[in-house]
Amino acid sequence: MKCIWLQAGELDYKELPRPQPAQGECLLAIKQAGICGTDRELLRGYYDFSGIAGHEFVATVEAGSAAWLGKRVVADINISCEVCELCLRGLQHHCPSRRVVGIKEQTGAFAEYLCIPERNLFEVPDSMSDYQAVQLEPLAAALEILDQITLTETDKVLVVGAGRLGRMVCRVLRACGHKVSVLVRDKAKAAKALRGIEVLSQVDSACPFNVVVECSGHQDGMALALSAVEPRGTIVVKSTYASALTIDMSQLVVNEVSLVGSRCGDLGKAIQWMLDSGDEFDAHLRDGKVSNFALSEFEQAFNEAGNPSLEKVVFDQFDR
Ligand SMILES: [Zn+2]
Ligand SMILES: [Zn+2]
Repeated sequence: MKCIWLQAGELDYKELPRPQPAQGECLLAIKQAGICGTDRELLRGYYDFSGIAGHEFVATVEAGSAAWLGKRVVADINISCEVCELCLRGLQHHCPSRRVVGIKEQTGAFAEYLCIPERNLFEVPDSMSDYQAVQLEPLAAALEILDQITLTETDKVLVVGAGRLGRMVCRVLRACGHKVSVLVRDKAKAAKALRGIEVLSQVDSACPFNVVVECSGHQDGMALALSAVEPRGTIVVKSTYASALTIDMSQLVVNEVSLVGSRCGDLGKAIQWMLDSGDEFDAHLRDGKVSNFALSEFEQAFNEAGNPSLEKVVFDQFDR
């Protein structure tokens, strides 16, 4: 099968044998796989990963148990052990021996085929397009925030960064009825992509926010978040940084700010949320500009993925 191989900060287009599903696994034929910020961080060395990257995907089950054959699916990318104490407590995403598809010790989706345990699969409803399905993983990550903190109607929320995840977080929080502002570098560009959301190019320290969600992916995003949050407020950190981050901990202590790290969410909840969310959220997804590529065009695709005004870059040209 054809795939994109990542090693020592370099990408390569390769031909490898088609993987064979182990006991309890299904073989998936990838229909669409999206490039996200994490993939670009992997290239820069955020994790010591070598192999096939890619973790945002929709696929068809090609081999495995009869119950799943032919179904269109997405998958939880965390492959946990199911027997350790954290797994038994329902915290599989934090299993110490977990593998993560396309990120940690597990082959990813920038390939024609992928094997994954059956227990990780979620069927995609027929009413959902492939493009919507590929957004379920980032959508679940955005919804995870609402599982971790309680937002009230009067809370003022600031999202730092209007990259793909930042925009997703803005849309989700707004669709849930919260008052959201977004802090960006280029106000004109972001305003177009974020209808109905207040776009700021700087924060006024006299009007701090109760909750700040850091999605910038940049080292200075955290300092901006700290300057924008009110005393006793909460900073939710969504960004992963390629190198260690220095922050002013005294500011955190003096202002009694809570810091919440936030990663993957529940795909089942994301599917239901997307089905329930109605037209406005869906229109935002459909509005976005998408770039479509074949795996062999990986260099161009990863270059395009660096353009933050593009809604999504996907591999969806497979000639199996
Ligand atoms: Zn991602
Ligand atoms: Zn475990």
